[in-house]
Amino acid sequence: MLVTMEEILKEAKEKKYAVGAFNVPNLESVQAVISAAQELNVPVILQHAEVHETYTPLAEIGPIMLEYAKKATVPVCVHFDHGASFDMCVQAIRLGFTSVMIDASAEEYDINLAKTKEMVKIAHAAGVSVEAELGHIFTSSVGGGEGRGAVGADDYDSLNDCYTDPKTAKAFVEATGVDALAISFGTTHGVYLTEPKLDLNRITEIKNEIDIPFVMHGGSGVSDEDFKVAIANGIAKINYYTYSAKAAGEAVETYIKENPDTQMFSHDIIDVMKTAMKENVKAAMKVFASSIL
Ligand SMILES: [Zn+2]
Repeated sequence: MLVTMEEILKEAKEKKYAVGAFNVPNLESVQAVISAAQELNVPVILQHAEVHETYTPLAEIGPIMLEYAKKATVPVCVHFDHGASFDMCVQAIRLGFTSVMIDASAEEYDINLAKTKEMVKIAHAAGVSVEAELGHIFTSSVGGGEGRGAVGADDYDSLNDCYTDPKTAKAFVEATGVDALAISFGTTHGVYLTEPKLDLNRITEIKNEIDIPFVMHGGSGVSDEDFKVAIANGIAKINYYTYSAKAAGEAVETYIKENPDTQMFSHDIIDVMKTAMKENVKAAMKVFASSIL
């Protein structure tokens, strides 16, 4: 069933688990993610990132995401990820998305605040939840790219001021009225090239100031143990894409190598890809929702 981000994260926060938010740039990934969630009986967030417009535009993939969400046996939120423009966010709302992210985190604080506030006003009037981002989440040069506040992940030590400041987070959430906040504590979008240096205590420090559901972007290279600590500290939504897409690509590579004399058909390749993606997504869901499974 289709639900809002506010509803789906309320329960996650209470029961101390995180809802996986998966980018679904094509029909097969929608099918893989929904069937993984149904098999485990966990809530899920399907999301379309604005940078994935080149794969399948919102106007085409959006109705498919909504159709699968409505038919699903588990609660599903349909979310627009890293929205850079008002136009695209409003387009998502008009299509029936139940949540949007306005990402002005690359802008100066005052501009981020003003844009987020405006988006909250519009979205809440339509019964739609809003996620915003404060701080800068790193973006790897490989496989990443969905982050707007992107900085290179090559030099963590000099980038400490990119981490979300707890007092600023409190002021930002109170002034904007956002339903969920993406925070930066050292994670990376895309394939990690250097070991991530996570500041997991920062999540608790932010939660002590403002108690709303927090979103973790960029789970690349993060261990299962660190995911669990992040969730216990207050992360209720985890964006996850790169590694499931990579697992699907690698499964196809292996299939081709192991079947050198077989004629390759696109429907078989798609099947291999979809199965691998589903298994990877299920494994991630088991970590994120371990407190209820
Ligand atoms: Zn992100």
